[in-house]
Parts: sequence; C-alpha cells; structure tokens
Amino acid sequence: MKRTVPSALVCLLASAHAVAQNSPGYTDTPMLPDGKWRVHDATRPQPPIVEPGPASGPAPAPKDAILLFDGSGLTEWRSNDKEAKWAVADGCMTVNGTGDIRTTREFGDCQLHIEWASPAKVEGESQGRGNSGVFFFERYEVQILDSFENVTYADGQAGSLYGQNPPLVNACRKPGEWQTYDIVFRAPRFGPEGGLQQPARLTLFHNGVLAHLDRPMWGATAHRSLPAYKAHAPKGPIKLQDHGNPVRFRNVWIRELDLSGTPAVPSATPVAVEAKKTMDQTIAELMAKPEVADDSITVQHVLISFQGAPRMTNVTRSKDEAKELTERVWAKALTASDFKGLMAAYSNDTGPGEYPMTKATRSQMVKAFGDVGFRLKVGEMGVAPWDASASPFGWHIIKRVK
Ligand code: MG
Repeated sequence: MKRTVPSALVCLLASAHAVAQNSPGYTDTPMLPDGKWRVHDATRPQPPIVEPGPASGPAPAPKDAILLFDGSGLTEWRSNDKEAKWAVADGCMTVNGTGDIRTTREFGDCQLHIEWASPAKVEGESQGRGNSGVFFFERYEVQILDSFENVTYADGQAGSLYGQNPPLVNACRKPGEWQTYDIVFRAPRFGPEGGLQQPARLTLFHNGVLAHLDRPMWGATAHRSLPAYKAHAPKGPIKLQDHGNPVRFRNVWIRELDLSGTPAVPSATPVAVEAKKTMDQTIAELMAKPEVADDSITVQHVLISFQGAPRMTNVTRSKDEAKELTERVWAKALTASDFKGLMAAYSNDTGPGEYPMTKATRSQMVKAFGDVGFRLKVGEMGVAPWDASASPFGWHIIKRVK
C-alpha cells in the first residue's frame, strides 16, 4: 500500500531551501562513481513509499545468534573504550548525547537484526529528525532516520547506504513505532598489499520489505564527499550513531557468517579505491614494486601532452597544465568503469591507443610503457609522468588490459 507525502509538507521543505530543487540536498557535491547522481543529490528521485505490515513484539533470535542487546544492559557495548552510557530502561536503550557506542566484539560477514524507533515527539526535519545509524566496521553506514513524512535527500533517508544509494523503498513506520532492520553484510576483501579485491555488499529488509539486494558499497561512508576504501582487518566493531536525536533500540542480535564462497561482484562494478592518495604517491608506490613475471602484456593509455613536446603540433596547453589535467583525469579513471571513454575524451595519441608488447619488444616503445605496464596486473592502472627520455610526449595514464 502506498501513501503520499502531503504536498503542504513538500512546499514547506522546498521553501526552506533557496535553490530550486526537488528535495533537500546538494547540487555542488562530487558525482558518485556510477556517474548518475551527485553525493546527496537534491534531484535524485525519492524511493516509492510502501506501508509495511504492523509492528509486532521483538523478533525471537535464532539459537546460534549472539545477543548484543536484550534489554538488560550494555555489557556488549563500549563508548570510546569506556563504559557505554546510553540510557537503558524498559527493555530498550536510548541515544542520550553521550556519544556513539560500538560492540566490544568484532564481526566480519554477518546477519544483523536490530529494532529501532525514532522519537514519538516529532522534532526537526530532514537529517535532523530521528537520525542515527548502524555502521559496520564503524564506517559503512546503513542510515537510521525518521523518514515518515520527512523528506530528505534520497541517499540519506532511512535504509539508505548513506551518501551512496537510497533504499528500493521507503518502508518507514510512524515516529515512535518499533521498526526492524534485517541486514546481511558481506565484508570487503583486501589483498596482501592493501588493495581492494571485493567491495562490501549489503542486503537489507526494512520492516520485512526488501530495501537493498546484495548492493556493493563504494567505500567508507562520507558526508558531502566521495566514499573510498582504506584497507582494514577482516573483522571490526559495529557502531551505533549518536546524532543528537533520542532514537531507541531494542532486541539486537547477530549471526556470524562466512560468505567467502559467494561469487564476487562483476568487475564492471565501479569502485572508488584509495581516492585520496595523490597521483605522485601512486607513481612512487608503483615504481617501487618489482616487475611482473608475464612476458607479454597489452596496455591502453591516455596521453596528455603539451605544447613543445616532440611531434605534438596541435597541443596548446603548457607542461604545468598537462600535469594538472593528468591529475584530474587520473581521479576520473579511479572511479570510472569506461577507460576507453577517457581515451576518446582526453588522449592526444592519434594512434590506436592500445599496444601489445613483450619483454623483447618493449624497447621499441616509449620506455615508460614498459616500465609502468610490466608493474601492473591485468585491470590495474598507473601513471607515467613526463620525462625527457622515458616519457617524452607527456603524461601517460596506463591501464593493463591483457
Ligand atoms: Mg546517521
């Protein structure tokens, strides 16, 4: 059953924001990795409202579950390595301004059941109403918010992967009513050198209604900026957020899982990885690695040249401008899935842009192609900076494709 947001409320919220937009949110934030919407995009469509079944008593935990909160106390929780101080009464714990709390135990893949209620007394609007959150590894947030007749940006409402993806539906109950999240979280996997191998993935039922199905996450939750991954241990605490609103919780239980056998997400899934590392750091780290054992590779590249470089008669940008443009295109390459699109848009190479080479033939190529290409695994990218002998035509963003 669908209900609609009263138009008077929409008008009130719209008038509170000076710029023309469909909902609270932003028009100046970075584009998300899929290139469709900005972070907290004001124009991103709101998910359809689905009225869930009525609230019921606490869902009994299965036998193998760990009870993280059964109403009796906060022994499973800490706050900044001290005793957790949220108010406990009548079988529930309530956010009270003493800060976030996190589990003393650590979890990787898991199934989490958590029941929450936004304050019955409605105060504030948008992100200021009934805001809390469940953070796996203290960094991957499933948003908790009173999204009952409370418009906010789509990627910030209840059940959103905050700042990344809205839920499939808005299945919020009324303020004060108990709501359930049933979450299956598959932890991200990192390689031995800290590179991301598989992103975190999450399935969510909100009040029994599917809100996300095996949705990959683009990295740690961020506000007004792009999510990114930074390697961490295979297990970590789960955090509940104190966002200044007296949200209540009850009946929290978890089942530990090992989902290693589940298939990896297709490689086309765009993932932001270590986006904050500078291009110069990336170059230095790559060149410090040994070359791979493969004898034969194929690379694609984006050449960003400058006026005065050999054979570059049509390029008017300066060398400094070329470096600066390379940094911008490199940032795009990290979050885009379409490398050939970047080649078409930016490369000054008038040739095919894709080159096979072997260890025997590499000396016939621009030297930097081999120096960088033979340090990459298939699918990885690197940058060869301008160098009078190794890279005389300019900066090359290089991707190994075979
Ligand atoms: Mg939150």
